[in-house]
Amino acid sequence: MEFLSSSLLELITQTSTNLPPDVRAAMGIAAGSETPQTQSSQALTIILSNIDMANDDEGPICQDTGMPTFVVHTPVGVNQIKIAATIREAVAEATRRGKLRPNSVDSLTGKNSGDNLGEETPVIHFEQWEEDDIEVMLLLKGGGCENKNIQYSLPCTLDHLGNAGRNLEGVKKCLLHAVWQAQGHGCAPGALGVCIGSDRAHGYVLAKYQLFRTLDDVNPNPVLAKLEAEIMAEANQIGVGAMGFGGKASLIGCKITAANRLPASFFVSVAYDCWAFRRLGVRLDASSGAITNWLYRDPSRPVERMAQGEGFPLTGREVVLTPPITEEQVRALKVGDVVLITGEMFTGRDAVHAHLMKNPPPVDLRGAALYHCGPVMLKQGEQWVVKAAGPTTSSREEPYQAGIIKRYGVRAVIGKGGMGAKTLAALKESGGVYLNAIGGAAQYYARSVERVLGVHLMEFGIPEAMWHLRVSNFAAIVTMDAHGNSLHADVEKTTGEALEELLHQ
Ligand code: SF4
Repeated sequence: MEFLSSSLLELITQTSTNLPPDVRAAMGIAAGSETPQTQSSQALTIILSNIDMANDDEGPICQDTGMPTFVVHTPVGVNQIKIAATIREAVAEATRRGKLRPNSVDSLTGKNSGDNLGEETPVIHFEQWEEDDIEVMLLLKGGGCENKNIQYSLPCTLDHLGNAGRNLEGVKKCLLHAVWQAQGHGCAPGALGVCIGSDRAHGYVLAKYQLFRTLDDVNPNPVLAKLEAEIMAEANQIGVGAMGFGGKASLIGCKITAANRLPASFFVSVAYDCWAFRRLGVRLDASSGAITNWLYRDPSRPVERMAQGEGFPLTGREVVLTPPITEEQVRALKVGDVVLITGEMFTGRDAVHAHLMKNPPPVDLRGAALYHCGPVMLKQGEQWVVKAAGPTTSSREEPYQAGIIKRYGVRAVIGKGGMGAKTLAALKESGGVYLNAIGGAAQYYARSVERVLGVHLMEFGIPEAMWHLRVSNFAAIVTMDAHGNSLHADVEKTTGEALEELLHQ
């Protein structure tokens, strides 16, 4: 199969860089439904530009290219061992080319393999079928939304929704709860893949398989079709909004299957995917491995542009920050302000935060902007170049952040999804601010990086290292300020109240 390798590489590249038409259409509807001039609408403007930028430059739509998950159908007699080996080679090559971030971490040692290979990585599911072609489908689903997957065991009691029983009404409560609990952490607006029934392990597999359906299809089971439509309508009344900023667009798809269950078990398994819903597929000639057809899109049709304007709509009221930032500057900021950072910043995520709890920082962090980001980087000659650099989910750093702010004098923490009460208190006490960048907008933010000035703690691997960047007009929204205000806490409260109202309609 002389073309198998290049076909798989093309599939990975296209999946990482070019959203399929059904997702583009759903995002267009989401953007159209949002109230102009709101924070959610600003976020969607950046997201739409980012989708175009990724396609224009063939760069990753989001820096978190996830756990590559392949579903392969082969005719009887095709050598699946060879296909699996070629998939692994293609994954490693796509990583070398900067189309995938090195994401495979040894769970015992913490070491990143650097090529996206490792135990059970990538995930490959094989199935035989009676067709003559090979079909390969690929889903790239990042960690932020993967962490918001959730499984319910009915009966159960849910925040704001009360008891959920072993019936469709109980299932519906679970699905509304799944959208609510994700808030902005999984880069809303998101999509649900759902399995009602099965066992714990297979239920999650079947839920993820639902994400291989197009967002605009109609479930052939009328009961599930009705439930999907109801969830779409009601979840978009809760008010989570893009990035959890509060707004109308919370969900772009809901796809449900049902499987038989044990009498004693009633699971509802939910795979939550983000707006950066990267899923494509190809049909391959079984003898040559050449692509005979694309699934989900028609390559002969031009890719529709998403952005209405260019980039972030500036109003002139934005606050420019140039690190080192003073206490006076951050105390003047309040929730809702838009900030443009020009100057130097440092990245730091899970490994860096854990390290800083026990070790002094390798750089002076007084007045610094600390960016929760695991970028895609390539070395060109002696110079590192940013290929994708959106924010990662900040809540993972909640156990560390307050200590780091107080101990080292960080003034601005940048990430997505917001942080908790301990960080909010530290921002107030020490004079700091939390800035929400737009999740998944990896190409948009990569363009704001003028130069990589250096890297520290490289032993943690590329995504976890501390990168020293010089940025220009890096846009973010103040969502937690030094006065004790948190947009995230407010939206969580109002959306919880909206759930309660839905219950009584
Ligand atoms: S868009 Fe957000 S949730 Fe999705 S992969 Fe990127 S960072 Fe993760």
